[in-house]
Amino acid sequence: MKECELKTGYGCTYFIHPKKTDDGVVYWENGNDGYPLVDGRVCDACNVEVLKARISQLNRSAAE
Ligand SMILES: [Zn+2]
Repeated sequence: MKECELKTGYGCTYFIHPKKTDDGVVYWENGNDGYPLVDGRVCDACNVEVLKARISQLNRSAAE
């Protein structure tokens, strides 16, 4: 299992859990892009924080 590279602590288990179909077949195990918080892959829990950071970045550039 890949390690989460952000580890926010907000529900993060420090690992990127592979996504599986109902039949138990792994179809995605690379987590999410951690940009702009971290240069790496992050878990679903940390991705929430990444998305928040992206949104506030957008708001900032929209205000300029
Ligand atoms: Zn995480």
